Amino acid sequence: MVRCTNHVEYDDGTEAPLNPQLQPLIDIQALDLRITEIKEQQKKIPELIETAEAPLKSATQHLKTLSSSGETLVKERRDRERDLEAHEAQIGKLRARLTELKTNKEYQAHLFEIEMANKKKGEIEEQILTLMERVEKSQQEAKQAQISAKEAERQFAQEKAKLEALASGLVAELAQLDQKRGKAEGLLDKALLDRYRKLKAGRKDLAVAPVRNGICFGCRLQLPPQLVAEVKRSDVLQTCTYCHRILYWDGEPIPVAAATNETLENEADDMQETV
Ligand SMILES: [Zn+2]
Repeated sequence: MVRCTNHVEYDDGTEAPLNPQLQPLIDIQALDLRITEIKEQQKKIPELIETAEAPLKSATQHLKTLSSSGETLVKERRDRERDLEAHEAQIGKLRARLTELKTNKEYQAHLFEIEMANKKKGEIEEQILTLMERVEKSQQEAKQAQISAKEAERQFAQEKAKLEALASGLVAELAQLDQKRGKAEGLLDKALLDRYRKLKAGRKDLAVAPVRNGICFGCRLQLPPQLVAEVKRSDVLQTCTYCHRILYWDGEPIPVAAATNETLENEADDMQETV
């Protein structure tokens, strides 16, 4: 968390900014920035889970496609096997009829029919062999796809658990930040809090901006030296001339003794002016 570098030191060693409203204001801004960041992260989690699930979904789909084409091949093989049985029965009948034939012409014609039937049988057997090879290949592929799907499932479960742990971590952190924010708000004047809210709504980023090297880090413009000196002293809250953000000193902390001397000198000047 950003600490205002201009502060006084108490007897017990703790430090506080010269203006008691400044540090709580800086704290609230840091808390708000983190709260916004967390809410953005929370919004992204469902999408991250979906992305993590994509490989599992595609592996499951691939397995389903392979299983289905495997089943089709097995069915085709069975059909061909039934064809073969029917064909063998037919050949058996043709052979049995050979003895019943009377003329040589009839016998020759019948032998030719048997030869044709045998040729067809050979073709069916060839088809069955090819189908058996394809079924075996498809089963191997399905087995591999099953291993891949299992691995994808394991990885997704791991990733999902990680994201869910992150989500509950964010919920817990958010609750803590809300509590801290409530405490810091309690230290602020209502008017200042309203001013902060309006600035925050209008600026989208910083409502309270650090001053470094004489530059307002809200609008990146060079501030008048007198204003920089007042921000450095930080007893009264100062506003950027250009962007109207509330300013705080973020350079070298000024030694307590020097700050006191400077204040005394100023007071002396004021007294002289009064005189
Ligand atoms: Zn500015």
